[in-house]
Amino acid sequence: MRSLTIQEIRCKHLLHRTSASFAEVTINPYIGCGFGCSYCYVPILRAKRGQPGAQTWGQWVQVKINAPDVVRREMLDVSRDTHILIGSATDAWQPIEKRYRVSRGVLYELSFYPNRVTILTRSPLLIRDIDLLKRFERLSVHISVPTVDEKVRRVFEPHAPSVAGRIELTRRLLKAGIRTTWAWCPFLPGVENTPEHIRQYVRVAAQAGVTEIWVGRINYWSSLAERYRSLLNRYRLQTGWVPHLLLREQTEQMVREECEKVGILCRI
Ligand code: SF4
Repeated sequence: MRSLTIQEIRCKHLLHRTSASFAEVTINPYIGCGFGCSYCYVPILRAKRGQPGAQTWGQWVQVKINAPDVVRREMLDVSRDTHILIGSATDAWQPIEKRYRVSRGVLYELSFYPNRVTILTRSPLLIRDIDLLKRFERLSVHISVPTVDEKVRRVFEPHAPSVAGRIELTRRLLKAGIRTTWAWCPFLPGVENTPEHIRQYVRVAAQAGVTEIWVGRINYWSSLAERYRSLLNRYRLQTGWVPHLLLREQTEQMVREECEKVGILCRI
């Protein structure tokens, strides 16, 4: 496991209005993310904005240690119809959350309100907070699962949780009656657009009990292309795999067909 520089900070605001998401307000209890996925768009945005830390993304995290207190105060001014997204620019259940519990504190504060809440995560640590999740009337969890192939996962997001961990998270959430979907996002071009990977992905999702999948592309491809191609080459060298790649239309059609066969609702 690589080392992580942790800094505790106090934030003035935690709820941020956004027009760049399906929700109206986002909450990110951390700045930075220890998972450091190779295709993450957040460091690209930081670089564009002239913010520091883009080059070392994945190696540092700032903890908003007063996040629960700020949410308690700011929710007083939020309309009950406002849809809230947790984890648009960080994974709120990344490993240091085990120690700091700020995301759990934020959830606790939100649980007193009827607002619709969506959590975006790939971390099985969320299992710890199922007791709180069950308090919400309108909550859904989107679990990021860009691949169900551990060999692929180790190349493109080596510091993120295993596929098995995400499947376990899925099963535990569904068992607790929590609406849970998979985000096949980003869809890894040159890897996932093969008949083998599509069939495997949909089969594993169905076995985990998933009934809804969202498919999304890599954001900011022009900034990521060079690095992505080198990881793709590494993956192919490691596995000796010569893929039969599908065209985009064929890929989308096959994803839809495979999902339909097992009764999964697919949004591309
Ligand atoms: S878990 Fe999300 S926020 Fe964290 S590095 Fe990966 S894509 Fe970025």
